[in-house]
Amino acid sequence: MAILDDLSGYEFEDLMEDVFRHLGYENVQQSRRTADEGRDILMEEVVDGNRRAVVVECKHTETVSRPVIQKLHSAVETYEYDGPVRGLVVTTGRFTAPAREYTRNLGSSRDGGVELLDGTDLREISEEIGMDLYNGRIEILCDEVLRPTHPTAGRDAPVFEAAREIDNLEPATIPTPETTVSLEPMVTVHTRTNATFETSVGVVHQVDESNDLVIRAEGDTPQIETGDVKDLVANPSAPRIDLENCGLRDTFDGVEHARFGRTETTYKQWAIDRLQQVHTTTVQYTGDNNVDYEKTCTPRSSDVSIWSIDPVYAPHVQSRVSLGEYDYRYAYYAAGPSRATTTNEFRQCVHCGTDGASESYIYCRNCGSINCDEHVRTERLVDEPVCTGCAVTERFAFDTKYFYDRENLEAFREEYANMPIHEKAKENVTLAAGTVLCVLFVAFLVVLSLGLV
Ligand SMILES: [Zn+2]
Ligand SMILES: [Zn+2]
Repeated sequence: MAILDDLSGYEFEDLMEDVFRHLGYENVQQSRRTADEGRDILMEEVVDGNRRAVVVECKHTETVSRPVIQKLHSAVETYEYDGPVRGLVVTTGRFTAPAREYTRNLGSSRDGGVELLDGTDLREISEEIGMDLYNGRIEILCDEVLRPTHPTAGRDAPVFEAAREIDNLEPATIPTPETTVSLEPMVTVHTRTNATFETSVGVVHQVDESNDLVIRAEGDTPQIETGDVKDLVANPSAPRIDLENCGLRDTFDGVEHARFGRTETTYKQWAIDRLQQVHTTTVQYTGDNNVDYEKTCTPRSSDVSIWSIDPVYAPHVQSRVSLGEYDYRYAYYAAGPSRATTTNEFRQCVHCGTDGASESYIYCRNCGSINCDEHVRTERLVDEPVCTGCAVTERFAFDTKYFYDRENLEAFREEYANMPIHEKAKENVTLAAGTVLCVLFVAFLVVLSLGLV
C-alpha cells in the first residue's frame, strides 16, 4: 500500500484511532508505552454483555514479522484489565508467513489471541466506513452535500432576485447566468467545555458551555468559519443530498470538488486547542491572607468533550451575468431554501467600487454598468439614467448635459437651437433662479435709489 508512505508512524496511529472509532469500538484511546516504541491504541468491545479490552499495535511498515506479534502477545497477557483482553496488529504492509503461522497458534480472541489486519484489509475497511485513501493520506470521505439549489425556485432564482433590486434594469432583459458550484469541505464539531478552577479559597472560575465550531477543511490549514456561513453549515436541519446521485453536473455549468485536507483526529485536536484558547480567562480573587491574586484559567484538553464530528460539503454557488460591457458576479453558500451571500456585484458601483453603501444602485442601459447615485445622471434627450462613464457631455446654458452618444447630443443641439430664450434658460435651473434673484435685487436697488421706500 505504497500510497500511504507519506504518513509518519504517529499520523498512522491517529488515523487508526479514527478508523476504530468509526468501526464502533468504544473508549478508543492512544497510550504511550515508551518513547521509542510509539503508542498503542487501547479500546473496548462488548461481547454478550461483557466488556473486552483490545490492545492494538500499529505498524506502518512494509512487512511485519513474528517478533512484533510475540511482543504484542506478551503485552496482552500482562495488560491489567478487569475482563478478557485480546490483541490486534494492523499494518499498511503485509505479515510474513511465520508471523501468520505464529498468530494462528496463539488461540482465540477470548483467551488473548491476536487478530491481524494488513494493508488490503485496511483499504476495504476504510472504504466501508467512509474514509478514503488518497495521495498518501487517509482523508475524510464524505458523500453528503448541502442542497445547492432552492427546492422550488430554479437554479438561478437567487441571482434574479438580487438583480431585481437594481433600479432601471428590466428583469426580462437579464440573460441566463453562467453558474458553477464548488463543493467546499466543512467539518462541524459539536463540543462541550466543562471546567472548574479552584484555589485555596475555593472555586474561582467555572466554564460550562456548548460550542459548535465549523471548520473549513480544505487544504492543510484548517480555518474557522464564522457568521452566516457558519450558521448555515452548523444548522442540523439544513437539507442534505447524496453527492453521488444528485446530478450536479446536469444542473450546473461547472462543478468543482475539493477534498478534505486532514483526518478527523486532526480536526478534533484542532477544535480542542481552539476551545482551550477561547475559554482562557484571567480572574482576580482575594486569598485568605487578604492579598489579591490573579489566576489564568485555561481548561485542560480533557475538559473539552467532542460530542460529534460532522463532515459535509457546502456548495458555494457562483454566477456570472453579462450585462452590456460588464460581467457581474453573484455568489452564495446554499442549503436548500437558505443561503449566505458572499459576493454581490449588483450592489457595487463599477466606477468607484462603492459596495452596498449606496441606498440604491442604478443600471445604465447605454453601457450595462451598475452605478451608485454619484455616478449616474439623466440623459437629456431621452430622460433615462446614464452613467458618467459612458455619457457624451456638452455644456448648454453653462450646464453640463449627458447623452448616450454623439447622435443624441446632435439631436439635442438642434432642439436647443430652436428653443425660445426662456426655454433655454430652463436648461440651467440654478443659473435661471440666480438670474431671477439678481434681477429682483437690481430692481430693489433701483427702487431704493429713487427714494421710493
Ligand atoms: Zn460610484
Ligand atoms: Zn453607462
